Amino acid sequence: MIRPIKLRRKRVVIDIDTQREFFLADGDSCIRNHRRVLMNIRRVLAWSRVKNMRVISTTLFKPGRNGDSFNSPGWQKISYTLRSKRIEFIPDDSTDLQRDLFTRYDQVILDKRTADPFEEPRADRLLSELHADEMIVIGGLAEGAVAATVLGLLQRGKRVTVLIDAVGTQDRQKADVAFRKMKAKGALLAETRDYAGTTHLRSTGLCDCKLCRLEEKLPATVGA
Ligand SMILES: [Zn+2]
Repeated sequence: MIRPIKLRRKRVVIDIDTQREFFLADGDSCIRNHRRVLMNIRRVLAWSRVKNMRVISTTLFKPGRNGDSFNSPGWQKISYTLRSKRIEFIPDDSTDLQRDLFTRYDQVILDKRTADPFEEPRADRLLSELHADEMIVIGGLAEGAVAATVLGLLQRGKRVTVLIDAVGTQDRQKADVAFRKMKAKGALLAETRDYAGTTHLRSTGLCDCKLCRLEEKLPATVGA
């Protein structure tokens, strides 16, 4: 019999594919409103660190022509989504996991070959066996990996909250359909400030596109 992997802490952050490729303006597949989404992601990660919550991250592993693009800059995780005590698993067909994973590490990074983490044996096992009171989802893309992850978790009976303003999308219409489907299947849709409060930061700290640089110079908008 398989013993479930239990988290003493009630909430866990599920951080989906927060890689430079999707979230920075110079990435080939940059999301819409990347500045706003990045600020919210940064806020959620800072909050999770203060609350000592564990983080499960997935990253898309895209082997290049030489099988080497895993380490290329575009596929690296956004720096503030990394915790110092972390362990990363590259994709293989093993389901091995240490029992004391969340005692020894604050963050587990699961690399995937496909958008859907449940097609990856180790990620499937960890996400299926994990018992937490609430899984808080951020990342991207809403119409891709986020939808696949959230619907898979709901199917497995997990309680899932999606922070919709900390989720990136490329196609607004498809994302709206995906969010409606997640909600219909039982996900709670919330905003970053409902959980992590608001931020006074003016900078994404990472992206130097025209928009990010311009916004940093403007005074903070009341209520924005
Ligand atoms: Zn930018």
